[in-house]
Amino acid sequence: MSTGALFGDDQHEEELLFRFAVDRINSDSTILAQTTLVPQIERVDHFDSFHANKRVCSLLNNGVVAIFGPSGLSASSSHTQSICDALEIPHVETSWDFQIQRDDLSINLYPKTVVLAKAYIDLVKAWNWKVFAIAYETNEGIIRIQEFLKEAERHDWQIFLYQFKPGKPYRDTFWEINKSHSKIVNIVLDVKHENLVNVLRHAQQVGMMTEIHSYLITSLDLHTVDLEDFKFGNTKISSFRLVDVISPELQDLMSQWSLLASKIGKKHILPPKYILTDSALVYDGVKLLATALQDLDQSQSVDGIQPISCENGSPWLYGSSLINYMRPITFRGITGLVGFDQSGYRSNFALDVMSIFPDGLQKIGYWTENSQVNGTSSLQINSDMMKQYSVISMKNVMLRVTTIISEPYTMWKESAISREGNQQYEGFAVDLIEELSKIMGFSYRFQLVKDNAYGIKDENGNWNGMIGELIRNEADIAIVDLTISSKREEAVDFTQPFMNTGISILFKKPTTKVTTLFSFLSPFQNIVWIYVLGAYISVSTILFIVGRLTPYEWDDPHPCRQGDNVLENNFSLINSFSFTIGTMMQQGSAVAPKAMSTRTVAAIWYFFTLIMISSYTANLAAFLTVEKVIYPIEDAEGMASQTQIKYGCLGTGTTKAFFAESKIPTHQRMWAFMKNNPSVFTKSNRDGIERVQKSNGNYAYLMESASIEYKIERDCNLTQIGGLLDTKGYGIASPKDSPYRNPLSHAILKLHENGILLQLKDRWWKQKKGGGKCAEETKKSSAVNNLSIDHVGGVFVVLLGGLTLSFLVAIFEFIWKARKSADKEESVIDEMIKDLRFAFACQSKTKIVQKNDDFVKDKFSDSCPPQYGSDYNTIY
Ligand code: GLU
Repeated sequence: MSTGALFGDDQHEEELLFRFAVDRINSDSTILAQTTLVPQIERVDHFDSFHANKRVCSLLNNGVVAIFGPSGLSASSSHTQSICDALEIPHVETSWDFQIQRDDLSINLYPKTVVLAKAYIDLVKAWNWKVFAIAYETNEGIIRIQEFLKEAERHDWQIFLYQFKPGKPYRDTFWEINKSHSKIVNIVLDVKHENLVNVLRHAQQVGMMTEIHSYLITSLDLHTVDLEDFKFGNTKISSFRLVDVISPELQDLMSQWSLLASKIGKKHILPPKYILTDSALVYDGVKLLATALQDLDQSQSVDGIQPISCENGSPWLYGSSLINYMRPITFRGITGLVGFDQSGYRSNFALDVMSIFPDGLQKIGYWTENSQVNGTSSLQINSDMMKQYSVISMKNVMLRVTTIISEPYTMWKESAISREGNQQYEGFAVDLIEELSKIMGFSYRFQLVKDNAYGIKDENGNWNGMIGELIRNEADIAIVDLTISSKREEAVDFTQPFMNTGISILFKKPTTKVTTLFSFLSPFQNIVWIYVLGAYISVSTILFIVGRLTPYEWDDPHPCRQGDNVLENNFSLINSFSFTIGTMMQQGSAVAPKAMSTRTVAAIWYFFTLIMISSYTANLAAFLTVEKVIYPIEDAEGMASQTQIKYGCLGTGTTKAFFAESKIPTHQRMWAFMKNNPSVFTKSNRDGIERVQKSNGNYAYLMESASIEYKIERDCNLTQIGGLLDTKGYGIASPKDSPYRNPLSHAILKLHENGILLQLKDRWWKQKKGGGKCAEETKKSSAVNNLSIDHVGGVFVVLLGGLTLSFLVAIFEFIWKARKSADKEESVIDEMIKDLRFAFACQSKTKIVQKNDDFVKDKFSDSCPPQYGSDYNTIY
């Protein structure tokens, strides 16, 4: 049985692989054991379809079961396909084709364009490209990349298309890309594999092969190209590979190359390092044909094939059956898993993701297509390789770092000798970039921003300052207290923030000490004073009531006049009030409680006054030693609602942009004030701080809290007023789509995690350049607060408890005494009611009682002088 193939003059490798494959099938006893396949090869000119027509007809005249080739999108190829279709001879193709559907009698082992495009797009997404150029060579290239254009519409991609001009050096096109879109560092290259080295070399010649450039090569044959010249430049060059280079079959085949070549008389073809995708597909195609023939042979007897004439021949009987046997076959070939979908194209295949490293081209992952699950695909990239890749890409890179003099981020180094280059600067940002360079291996050179601005956009949409320098590619990164903002994010890329901050107010502390006539009241809050007054009145009143209630406070007016029927009570209303105030002021009192209940009231009052007086004295001492300052403004709201104190901010930073764009009425009022008084804007934060220092309290400066914190640690006359008006962070900025952003972000996170950033902050804020000077003072002033009810409330509770107890005791005393002295004729209850009425009537401090003689005798003392006679009663 013969099988035909059409190869161009330049397709030696394909031809050889075709012969190898046929040879192997013939020597393999497990496949087509009864039949010998005979290769029939014809040479064709890709562009001469008449010649190709003749060659196809000659093959058919010889009687072939299938025709391979010719490859490529040539007229010869489409002619061959239509002849095969008409005469029902299976046509096996092994090269790229743009058709969506194969003809009935045709099968293609090369992956379908849309599926390959999906793989390219997945990779572009993985590399996170947003802006890139596509440079293509032939018109077919535009068909291969049309999926990119569709995808760009869906995502926010910016794609610039370039075609290499025939007859012109490739470098012209690269030059054009570089000149018109200098920010483009990502390029999709669609060129033939044989031109790849040349194209890459031309890119190198115009400076488009640096460590910041990335290339995605659409050819599946990058592995066959000599990349020696490009592997040390750290340029990211990636592509896909279909050939399964580690398949044992391919290894075996390569090892026998010379032997097989001599066997079939092609000795002069040297073994390649790796075979081309098209050649590998020819090999797998022959295997596919042999397997299908065997299946066909087993189901029906195919007794050879008669010569078919192109002019009046009738179609081959078994052609359709043979192609139908080919389609469902799956096997592992040297291009991975071979299988087909309904349209006659490869399906469910896998591609290796290849990238260039100093060791050469390496597999860093794989891409797989799953046509069964709704055409889904998945891309797996080895994370270690990715990491290595990004680390390598920063090695030996010299970064131009733009910065601005701003304390304590970048400062001139104080030194007796004159310094040059990076040695001139010190500060947090300088240390930070040094730490990052240690992790990532790059070197850097500081350059001060020319216009001394951070970066804001003017009315024409142009950026100034460091942001402008990054956009114009005058610097690679910007590092200082550069705030991340959404407007800036549109123009440049920011890393993860290395510090958090927010806008606040810097103000000068009033220098005059505030003295008030009533500062002795300051130890307690007003409410505490009210409570104390309330306690005084209630305790005095309760003492008076308890004193009247308890019988033991009713006593003979004089010890020598015990026989009289008159009793006196010391706790009149006035005496009760003077007793409590006297004891409170620690002066004592002329009246002393005698009953248990009144003593309870007195005891609890003593306790109360002890605690209150001690607290008062202690807090008064603290108040007298601390200077109390009163600020004319307390927050942004207070600032917006006055006109006496002027306020402003930096004229080229995000603070100004914040007020200009804010929708909050207070901020809008502040912005209106600042806009109408442009003199309040400063050229640098240093100018703003100096203005506050010299201001005598009539200028406040709106500044970021991290910088305020630094300043008020050192200048104790300055202070921060109010909280933060917003929250934001400082990041390192790089040009849009810069390859440095992700590795830098990664390294910043590392510095966060291992505490280095905290250490740096501590060093530059608290230690160096006079840090910590005002910390003590801040502590002192924050320690004194007047006492609130929360501090002393407990004493009042105890007082309340004591008073309740005294009431209970008084009631007990009252009942006890009433029972003892009850009249024989009167009941105890009546006696008690009478006494109670008297007590609560509060009319007199004396009362008439009936005493029995025993009682008088017991108590009366012989030592009383005789002048205390019966007229004593008349005194009262
Ligand atoms: N950090 C600000 C910026 O990046 C500068 C200071 C400010 O605006 O307060 O623009």
